[in-house]
Amino acid sequence: MPKKEKLSCTRKSPYVVLGRFVQRNHPVIFSKLYNFLDATKDFAVNINYNIRIGKRSPIRKGKVLDTLTFSLTNVCNASCIFCPYELLHDKKEFMKFPVFKKALDQFIEQGGKHVSFTPIFGEALLDNDLFNKINYCKKKGVNDIFLFTNGILLNKNYKQIVDSGLDKLIISFSEFDSKKYCEVYRVTQKVHKELIEGLEKLLKYNEKKGHKVHITLALRPSSVPKNVMKNSFFVNNLKKYLDDVAVMTIFNSHNGKIKQENLKGVMRIKRPFRNKNYPCVMLYEMVTLLPNGDVKLCGCTFHKTLNEFVIGNINDQDIFNIYNGDKANNLRKNFKNNPLCKKCTIYKPYRK
Ligand code: SF4
Ligand code: SF4
Repeated sequence: MPKKEKLSCTRKSPYVVLGRFVQRNHPVIFSKLYNFLDATKDFAVNINYNIRIGKRSPIRKGKVLDTLTFSLTNVCNASCIFCPYELLHDKKEFMKFPVFKKALDQFIEQGGKHVSFTPIFGEALLDNDLFNKINYCKKKGVNDIFLFTNGILLNKNYKQIVDSGLDKLIISFSEFDSKKYCEVYRVTQKVHKELIEGLEKLLKYNEKKGHKVHITLALRPSSVPKNVMKNSFFVNNLKKYLDDVAVMTIFNSHNGKIKQENLKGVMRIKRPFRNKNYPCVMLYEMVTLLPNGDVKLCGCTFHKTLNEFVIGNINDQDIFNIYNGDKANNLRKNFKNNPLCKKCTIYKPYRK
């Protein structure tokens, strides 16, 4: 069955290819090299900031919001060692359809194009209304719908995922060794077994249906990634159906909530970016809707609650005005004083 035309450019620069090679074969050397190059980049970015970027205003006005992330729930069925989910004590909830519909209508109206159904800390497949929401997006003409899942419920949902109209799916996974997987995702071996069954069914069903969904397997292994990818079941039954295999061995510390001693094997914590002189890209490009209709900037981590960085609620104001409003611009302007950003390890300066 021919593959659906690739949704993203698959041609990689030689540096990316080399980086991936080192990460897969020598992950510990990769993390040292990565952190060293990151420090060099930190220095270069600051020179660049002082010469060019610093003259620009961090204020945004009248800009269309291009991508909206629906954080459908803050309930998860795993408890990964690299995630602070267990430390989040917000009320557990799911986004109701009317809240989703109102936000999506506003988002489309102002010219939005890309939709993500990836919760900040939670599992989207636990939302019984997920496929109705995807269908509604399709009806409204959204043709880039993205979902990130831990895959635990694939066995139950694989047909609906393929037939729903979803465009891109990323499945977070650790490795095929059941014991090691369970150490990282902190679930039972039965869950791991069902996940692999579901993954195989999903990939084969997607192929049977003409490769409707672009599927990436995102490995977060504690073993050397090259060895994970040598697994005979992966090589013989899964690899040929996948569009991409991504590897992550360096992790956000979530403001010190995750420490090196929490991680296993080749997993490493990312070094903090030292001189943060310009607002982070996430204050411009990542806008997340919470289940109660609150709109927040960023959505990568939290200090005490997910309600940090809230810039408005879709019941009081439309999303375009919220995104370009005073609350959002004040956060961008005063970003240096924000305790969450001060310690964040995944800061990236906004340069456009
Ligand atoms: S990383 Fe994702 S799957 Fe793992 S505990 Fe956090 S929210 Fe759940
Ligand atoms: S520095 Fe970290 S917390 Fe602050 S906006 Fe960027 S990603 Fe979010």
